[in-house]
Amino acid sequence: MMEYSLPALPYDYNALEPFMDEQTLRLHHGKHHAAYVNGLNAALKKLEEARAKADFSSIRALETALAFHGSGHMLHSLFWKSMCAQKQSAEPKSGALFEAIARDFGSLESFKKQFSEAAKAVEGSGWAILVYEPEGKRLLILQVENHQKLALQGSIPLLALDVWEHAYYILYKSDRAKYIENWWNICDWSGLEKRLSAIKE
Ligand code: MN
Repeated sequence: MMEYSLPALPYDYNALEPFMDEQTLRLHHGKHHAAYVNGLNAALKKLEEARAKADFSSIRALETALAFHGSGHMLHSLFWKSMCAQKQSAEPKSGALFEAIARDFGSLESFKKQFSEAAKAVEGSGWAILVYEPEGKRLLILQVENHQKLALQGSIPLLALDVWEHAYYILYKSDRAKYIENWWNICDWSGLEKRLSAIKE
């Protein structure tokens, strides 16, 4: 199984001075981000052990650990790539990015304003992220709070199982377990395979 590893920063630790200091960047990358990578690998190992023993008594904690450390790793990796030294930072004045931002936010200025306000208004710890939403083919700004909440930012959903009661109550009443057990009979594996190969390079 492939282990996740801490990516090197694409610049020196002091490259973002004076806006982000070297000490912060060393701690943030070398301690905080590294802890997410280690936690992600540990969660995958524990899930492997749980499958081997067919013991899923800790499944909620394991899935939460997977999402928490996985999202932490993905978001930090994107965060490092989202920055560069000031002398390389040039706002777009034309081109594909400029046009996409103008189309979806009105102007670069409006985009920056909304992004800043979203970041400021995140409750507690969290993130502001710009995302591409493929169905509407548009850019969106999202706040991410509690990134451990069972989502892995940056992943592409390939298979979904709706476990809201409205999905099964008439047939299964409160027996969600039975619904899930039976759902595998109607799982479209070939559709899943097609979706997976469509995004693999
Ligand atoms: Mn962080």
